[in-house]
Amino acid sequence: MLNQQPKHWLNFIGGAWVDSDRRIEVRDPSTDQVFATIASAGSEHVEQAMAAARRTVQQGALTRQRPAERAELLHRIGGEIRKLAEEGAEVASRENGKSVNDARDEFLESARYFEYYAGMADKIEGKSIPLGEDYIDFTCYEPQGVSVQIVPWNFPVSICARSLAPALAAGNAVVVKSPELSPLAITLLAVACERAGLPAGALSVLAGPGREIGAALVAHQDTNQIVFTGSVPTGQAIMRSAAERAVPCVMELGGKSAAVAFADADLDQLMASVQGGIFFNAGQVCSAMSRLLVQREIYDEVVGRVAELAQGLSIGGGRDNPDLTPVVSMQQRDGILSMCRDAEADGARLVTGGYPVDGLPGAFVQPTVFADVTPQMRLFCEEVFGPVIAITPFDSEAEAFELANGTDYGLVAGVFTRDLSRALRAAQVLEAGQVFVNEWFAGGIETPFGGNRLSGYGREKGQEALYSYVRTKNVAIRVSR
Ligand code: NAD
Repeated sequence: MLNQQPKHWLNFIGGAWVDSDRRIEVRDPSTDQVFATIASAGSEHVEQAMAAARRTVQQGALTRQRPAERAELLHRIGGEIRKLAEEGAEVASRENGKSVNDARDEFLESARYFEYYAGMADKIEGKSIPLGEDYIDFTCYEPQGVSVQIVPWNFPVSICARSLAPALAAGNAVVVKSPELSPLAITLLAVACERAGLPAGALSVLAGPGREIGAALVAHQDTNQIVFTGSVPTGQAIMRSAAERAVPCVMELGGKSAAVAFADADLDQLMASVQGGIFFNAGQVCSAMSRLLVQREIYDEVVGRVAELAQGLSIGGGRDNPDLTPVVSMQQRDGILSMCRDAEADGARLVTGGYPVDGLPGAFVQPTVFADVTPQMRLFCEEVFGPVIAITPFDSEAEAFELANGTDYGLVAGVFTRDLSRALRAAQVLEAGQVFVNEWFAGGIETPFGGNRLSGYGREKGQEALYSYVRTKNVAIRVSR
């Protein structure tokens, strides 16, 4: 397959495909069987990747180009990703469990990131600041330098593309640390970059243990920026390490996001959003609709309809493109089931699901609905990262917004109502980086995405994200007379 052996994959370091004497076994979550291995990088590979990135920055391999040339390069990378989408979807589905259709979409979305930021590569413009006639003052944007990007397993390809594309557009060199559980499909981004003619050294992709390889990249003296997407505890460890050398970070952490459904909501619209919101990618989405707050008048009806929806979902391996696929690993499955048992012990009402799927050997969790969940319960406050929705009743608007804001997270929030003023009040009050009105996941790669509070800081996507990958320099010139 491509530059790689079919069953053993390599790291991409400084423009070369590199093996290692250590390996990571990659399992298919629908069977729990190992189907491939990938070279597991060691400290020497970290040094090689960082040295290649540093050289690329020092030699100006990307910044000497006219920005319009960089734009063309990014367009070519987008095109190469499109060509790899079919093959990549098979691999991404197999290593992660997601459906082939969703995996293909992930590749196409990744191509879009490159095409979108290609359009911005030649528009990173500074400004002139008036200081009176004795001065000329202007700002310019410089790349950060070496951007270290640490990627989680739930959408490894598109989360990688989301940061890689603007970083390259701005002229940075990038070293990616892929997730241990899904390290294969992400390497196809390196194949696309190589085929499109990205200078060697501008991108390395390393697989390896986070606490070893990830931590070494974060602490490396040549790291100028860290972009991390993953869990809160790992993000906190990275921020502590980055503080040693004051390295700027973008942190995309988890969430426990709530949809607020008022009695006047269009319930068909709500149900479509519930299906995507909590069952897409088996609920392993940082911005999942993991909580649903429902006004008392429609509470029983909505609980019934969500349960009916959950019970009607088809379940199976990613190749069959069912509604619900396995979670990423048996360990993840067991963690989710243990949270379900805790929720029952805390007094939440298990309406449907909550157990493994009979007859399927892999990491399958039944689509799960808990009702009567209260703010004191762990299920209300903590991320499950699986197909489990927690439903809570409310009476007044004020109570609804308080419940929605009642966790330490602040990633996304949603409101379902026909009352525009109420929707706008919600948008003002809900403490989240993005608020959806009447459609969960509304928005796109053009709209800024990121969290507040424990969900992190910094924004990805949209024009705004580009400015995470540059630093501002001001030049003030005294004019002699
Ligand atoms: P994780 O934090 O365990 O791992 C994420 C990455 O960090 C992996 O590549 C891992 O190898 C690496 N890592 C682990 N320890 C490290 C260390 N000490 N130093 C450097 N790197 C280290 O998260 P995960 O289990 O892969 O992903 C699930 C979590 O990610 C969930 O909490 C989810 O909400 C969050 N997430 C957030 C977003 C977002 O955009 N906000 C997107 C996807 C996932």
